[in-house]
Amino acid sequence: MKINKILVANRGEIAIRVFKTAKKLGIKTVAVYSTADRNAPHVAEADEAVLIGEAPSNQSYLLGDKIIEVAKSLNVDAIHPGYGFLSENAEFSQKIADAGLIFIGPKPHAIRTMGSKLAAKETVKKYDIPMVPGIDKAVINPKEAIEIAKEIGFPILIKASAGGGGKGMRIVEKEADLESQMKRAISEATSAFGDGSIFVEKYIESPRHIEIQILADSHGNVVHLFERECSIQRRHQKVVEEAPSSILTKEIRHKMGEAAVNVAKSCDYLGAGTVEFLMDAQMNFFFLEMNTRLQVEHPVTEWITGLDLVEEQIKIAQGAALSFTQEDLTIKGHAIELRVYAEDSLNDFMPSMGTLNTYQPPSGENIRVDDGFKEGMEIPIYYDPMLSKLITYGKTRDAAIVRMIEAIDNYHVDGVETTLAFGKYVCQHKVFKSGKFDTHFVKKYYTPEIIEEHYKEEATIAAKIALNMYLEEKQKVKLPKKETNAAIKALFNR
Ligand code: ADP
Repeated sequence: MKINKILVANRGEIAIRVFKTAKKLGIKTVAVYSTADRNAPHVAEADEAVLIGEAPSNQSYLLGDKIIEVAKSLNVDAIHPGYGFLSENAEFSQKIADAGLIFIGPKPHAIRTMGSKLAAKETVKKYDIPMVPGIDKAVINPKEAIEIAKEIGFPILIKASAGGGGKGMRIVEKEADLESQMKRAISEATSAFGDGSIFVEKYIESPRHIEIQILADSHGNVVHLFERECSIQRRHQKVVEEAPSSILTKEIRHKMGEAAVNVAKSCDYLGAGTVEFLMDAQMNFFFLEMNTRLQVEHPVTEWITGLDLVEEQIKIAQGAALSFTQEDLTIKGHAIELRVYAEDSLNDFMPSMGTLNTYQPPSGENIRVDDGFKEGMEIPIYYDPMLSKLITYGKTRDAAIVRMIEAIDNYHVDGVETTLAFGKYVCQHKVFKSGKFDTHFVKKYYTPEIIEEHYKEEATIAAKIALNMYLEEKQKVKLPKKETNAAIKALFNR
């Protein structure tokens, strides 16, 4: 069925990202927004926009029924959920289908299965997908957990089956701590996710997070679009991603790709999805989970494959078969993404709210910025504090890193703290450059003092430039000596 009009049930950069492809394909667009987003760029980008409620997301972006009502009243054909909000809500996708509309994403059954880490493990088992040693069913009895932990060896990780976004995980180093940690994990999972099921996994000591992008159409074709390396994380959440990974061999890439395609087949997947793996120091890989939506970091895959993932999603939703096979796909060059969060990297990456007094993103060859903000805007406290995604490309990994550093230097934000300086630190670090790092990079190599030092250096350079300009100016106007000295003093005492 041809899609003529798409509603995006989301906000910010991802809404704009979807509109861009929709426009390219000649599809009309509808935005929804909350009162906090009246002046947000995603509203202006769409052909039509509808206010759906108050700022808190449970009164706006999470109101599935209301969004479907809006879609019906505006003769929308399909709803794109973006990521976050309702994107992994099986009930929402079912209701869209019941309303006679198209959900741009997988079927409710696949969302439901992969939304539970335990159900996912159970489902992929038949395909011999390697899994982290541990137990693949919910445990409530501490004695049982102790037995498993002894078998696999400490440290272990307690995980919430319904967990997500890096939440609901606890590392347990020794037997004596297990019972109390389990109790806490169960009560936390119950209150945070409404499901107290927890399970136990071996804690992989030096892990890398490597994920595979897949595409599946409704004709039984499933391909993978290679990997993304997402090991630079804070709070178990990604900050820097890249494609390809610097450590994968052709053979391992092929094996991981095959495993990811099988995971997709195991749940009858449809559309774009991501199969996440952990890789240990010996390069063994283990299935973590599947994300049944477009990922934040999808641009790095777009750059190395030359595909538009949103376009593929839309075509698949229209019932088209993939226009290429696995053999047609190749990796070209290297892409890196930095998530530019409004966060204070000097203060444990806490959200940094305020007004974007200056907001000037970089542009140029091999630079892509996906953002949803403009200068002068306030950052709403209600939503994820990601300002933008800065993506750079190069023929080689080194070239992409150099371009990233240049792009960061040309990215000017004032009014809130950001992860830009942190990103530059990562890109300049010899361990990152060597490609031999793991998910503990931040813990091992990063301290706030490093960024403080960087800011000081920048301030000194700025002062020196200002002084130079001043002295040049002085040559022209010939100020008296007394005034010159006072001005220099004032510059350095700021
Ligand atoms: P979420 O759904 O909350 O994102 P994941 O299972 O995808 O949780 O894991 C998120 C991150 O947590 C991983 O990228 C990795 O850094 C860490 N992690 C998860 N499982 C393990 C494990 N068994 N051993 C070590 N680290 C892990």
